Amino acid sequence: MSNSLVLVINSGSSSLKFALIDTVNGEATLSGLGECFGLPEANVSWKINGEKQQVQLEASGNHHQQAVDRIVALLDELGMKQDIVAIGHRVVHGGEKFTQTVKVDDTVLEEIEKLSDLAPLHNPAHVIGMRATMKAFPALSQYAVFDTAFHQSMPAKAYTGAISRKLYNDYGIRRYGFHGTSHYFVSREAAKVINKPVEKSNFISVHLGNGASVCAVKNGKSVDTSMGFTPLAGLMMGTRCGDLDPSIIEFLLKKGWSQEDVFNELNKNSGLLGVSGLTSDCRGIVEAMEEGHEGATLAFEIFCYRVAKYIGSYMVALDELDAIIFTAGIGENSLPVRSKILENLKIFGYREDAEANAAARFGNKGIITQPSTPVAMVIPTNEEWVIAKQSMEMLHS
Ligand code: ADP
Repeated sequence: MSNSLVLVINSGSSSLKFALIDTVNGEATLSGLGECFGLPEANVSWKINGEKQQVQLEASGNHHQQAVDRIVALLDELGMKQDIVAIGHRVVHGGEKFTQTVKVDDTVLEEIEKLSDLAPLHNPAHVIGMRATMKAFPALSQYAVFDTAFHQSMPAKAYTGAISRKLYNDYGIRRYGFHGTSHYFVSREAAKVINKPVEKSNFISVHLGNGASVCAVKNGKSVDTSMGFTPLAGLMMGTRCGDLDPSIIEFLLKKGWSQEDVFNELNKNSGLLGVSGLTSDCRGIVEAMEEGHEGATLAFEIFCYRVAKYIGSYMVALDELDAIIFTAGIGENSLPVRSKILENLKIFGYREDAEANAAARFGNKGIITQPSTPVAMVIPTNEEWVIAKQSMEMLHS
């Protein structure tokens, strides 16, 4: 195990996820979560041998630092601390500045902080997390892996909005795309399944979790993706609306809604939750639909229809297509969702293999379409592994 462990950190505004990844096999030796930061009940929890353990943090103070210090103490107690060789941080927004993983230093921290304008909920929290781990592990190199980096290969026709150039020049308004680490990982794994070099492989990668996005991958590179300037664009999601006529915002503002209420509505009360009036959780939607719930049925229909529409439109971004890839919580597990999406794509020749579809879940990968028909497959994503591996590669480069 020694010399192969990377500590992966995903620091949010009120939480901090961590995982100790063995870069030899991609396994998480230990993983956990600090949450409720800023509240008296702030705590850190982790799982060892299937058993959950939890400690409270102090009622106030810098909870990010306290959580990191507690994680360091835990790693020490478990005898793992000395085997950690690098720290990898997930960073949501790298703007146009970061096209690949970088070593974190003061200049990089400043740049990430500067990009907070584009990701106000995420980037400041990443910087706080990075400062905390730099203090706790002064001798270790730290790396930043960006959600946006994989999409920096998009051509201007894909990332430029049909708006005046002034908005791009003055404010950087353009499509950035997110979930890049996931689309990168599953496209590489899918190339192995079809036995082709990824540089010659073409995929439509469909990441369906609470957040959801589609990515057209041409010769291994992102050429278009459905999330945009922010993660609100594109597909219908758990609580986000996805694409919508921007005039609706003006309409609601004129009706007396505050800007904050509109933002909350579109980000937190829309999507599966908003349409079903029930839940943002896909399992709950499918269960309710099976019991005949009207809102859940409509939510399911819209969700699957919109994914299929995006897949259809991304045929335009590619000259050929080797496979559609389903990944993340819903993509990896929900048979009815995958089945319905493939049904919606029947004009392109997709035919579900029901037995194969049923087998590809709970971490199992596999092709889920019938032989001699266009290929769709399931590939479990593993963003932590990418972060750990890229950190390790940079350490040794
Ligand atoms: P995120 O990382 O974006 O928070 P996940 O990738 O964990 O989200 O996906 C969460 C979604 O996956 C939820 O809608 C949940 O219902 C769905 N999901 C998880 N497990 C299953 C399952 N066994 N069957 C169907 N849907 C599932």
